[in-house]
Amino acid sequence: MEPRKRIKRAIEWSLKFRVDASVNRARAGHLDLPHGGVSSPVYMPVGTKASIKGITYNEMKEMGCEILLSNTYHLGNFPGTEVLDHFDGLHSFEGWSGNILTDSGGFQMVSLLKLANITEAGVEFQSPVDGSMMLLTPEESIRIQNSIGGDIMMALDDVVNPMSTPERLEEACHRTNRWIDRCIEGHNPIKPQNLFGIVQGGLDLRLRDISLAGLIPKDLPGYAIGGLCGGEKKDDFWKIVAHCTDKLPWDKPRYVMGVGYPVDLVVCACLGADMFDCVFPTRTARFGQVFTTKGFLKLRREEMKNDLTPIEPGCQCSTCRKYSKSFLCEAFHKEEATCYLLSVHNIYFLLNLMRRLRQSIVTNTLDAFVKDFMVNWFGGLENVPKWVFDAMKEAKISLE
Ligand SMILES: [Zn+2]
Repeated sequence: MEPRKRIKRAIEWSLKFRVDASVNRARAGHLDLPHGGVSSPVYMPVGTKASIKGITYNEMKEMGCEILLSNTYHLGNFPGTEVLDHFDGLHSFEGWSGNILTDSGGFQMVSLLKLANITEAGVEFQSPVDGSMMLLTPEESIRIQNSIGGDIMMALDDVVNPMSTPERLEEACHRTNRWIDRCIEGHNPIKPQNLFGIVQGGLDLRLRDISLAGLIPKDLPGYAIGGLCGGEKKDDFWKIVAHCTDKLPWDKPRYVMGVGYPVDLVVCACLGADMFDCVFPTRTARFGQVFTTKGFLKLRREEMKNDLTPIEPGCQCSTCRKYSKSFLCEAFHKEEATCYLLSVHNIYFLLNLMRRLRQSIVTNTLDAFVKDFMVNWFGGLENVPKWVFDAMKEAKISLE
């Protein structure tokens, strides 16, 4: 094939990122995006109308949410790009005035669809509508994300479980680096959107370095660390995050994908990560599980029928301000839809956890904040796992 002759001007990305304060590797940052500012570290709830089930955008705003994640795969099916183009994007279609980050659609396909196969061309999959074989290429992923009009778009990567064979991990790492050029090429800069690249390489530091070396020269407005949360050991998890944040540019936001467990958020933020997303807070709410500063709480009807205190005393979420544990247990067992009240608390918990952590960076009290959080969560310093101590040592944060 003839090399492309077309010379494209370097794209001017609109995202502006600054670090307001830092404690060792941890940063209190600020992202200036087309739909307003975002203070980081930040947890981004997954929030297309179909997935936040019962929580309104007004409630999201009231909770202080500045950026939501939307699934490209779902939006490409419904409402589809024609409708999105007609409405000039998802913001006006759904009436959300804050920022939106869209995923590439690739992860959803590989995890949701049985018949997904990755080739150099893209992700092949069987249409859930009519069963025909379809292909999501890097160009097509960006075309759909252009129609959605999110403030941050994610590059299509070769999604691979970190437990895959070394050959498969090597292939995925190189292919993701090849696909980033096709994503940039496929971007139509009609709206002020921003493209993040994704660092791959599984648990292999050499592959992570190859991925980093391929991506950083692209001078993208931000970078994500992908390929984690596939059941790897916590020791491997934090070391990969630390390795990548150490090499990624200081003046760009870093997003650890698929992380939503409170302890992991705190650890990653201390290691220099800025953005997180996960469906875990809403998924675990469906099983009657809620986050508290003292760890997980399972709402049990028998134990809590006379408990008139909220899930977390002092929590400012709308659930804790209105309802007792006793009420929530009764409601939860009678009407499954009330699990949205628990989702509200869990999402607020993570939003607020990141706000408080940010504040402790600004006031240079991060050590005390992290120690307090870990001691409460694990029920004493002696119960904090070794991997947390090791990660905090790397982050130069003392828990003693
Ligand atoms: Zn609450």
